[in-house]
Amino acid sequence: MPDWKITPLVVAIGPQREKSRFTYMHNFGGRVDVPYVSWLLQDGSHNVLVDTGCSATEYAEKIRPDDGPLLLAGETFADVEDLTPLEQRLADQGLEPGDIDLIVQTHLDWDHTMNTPAVFGDTEVKVVVQRDEWDRIPAHPLFAGTYSPKSTYAEIEAMNFETLEGDTEILPGLELVVTPGHSPAGQSAVVQTAEGPHVIVGMCTIAENFWPTEEVLAKGTYTVIPTGMHTDVMACYDSMLKIKAIPAARILPFHDIAVMEYDTLG
Ligand SMILES: [Zn+2]
Repeated sequence: MPDWKITPLVVAIGPQREKSRFTYMHNFGGRVDVPYVSWLLQDGSHNVLVDTGCSATEYAEKIRPDDGPLLLAGETFADVEDLTPLEQRLADQGLEPGDIDLIVQTHLDWDHTMNTPAVFGDTEVKVVVQRDEWDRIPAHPLFAGTYSPKSTYAEIEAMNFETLEGDTEILPGLELVVTPGHSPAGQSAVVQTAEGPHVIVGMCTIAENFWPTEEVLAKGTYTVIPTGMHTDVMACYDSMLKIKAIPAARILPFHDIAVMEYDTLG
């Protein structure tokens, strides 16, 4: 079994997002900075990305209305700000877009997909997503603000694109596990490293989703907090418990601010 290394490539940030969009029915009025990340996985012979993130330019062109900030689920949404574009992040690792062998799309929100055709549209990279996730676009009207425009998915479909049916070991030591609830059939990446399994959570989560405060744990009957945005809140809860039950796994919530401090993991 190969040992994988995980390098989070933080490409952009969403400043001061409403925290209850992440923690369902908790933290109303709280604010969090949200890193937008593409996770680079390497086993010595493959270069894999788990999601590709977004950019200020793509956001301005495709998501932000022309007449003012996005209004998303009642929140006036501060514009995406670039940190380091994905092409530069890859170059820092000695890679070009054409060096990537596989892109795993955990789910289809714009902050996870927009860079896929924008950066890799001219490459041969294989792109995989769960079929039950793909079949649910165009998005329900409630989620129109969190999905990319139709053109982005058409561009992804025109790439070397494949849908998956359920849990899949896509490469040795890299298993994709279906974790629905935040989206119809999101998938999380279970990555075997020299330091044990790591799980890149395929849902828009922060640390507090998986590790609620002592106050919440003391008063509640639940041990995790589902995502504020979800297609099935109880399925989301069950998916989070399923992730927590993976033996000895280090859980990496997708958008947790701690990612800013990570170098290479595993
Ligand atoms: Zn997200």
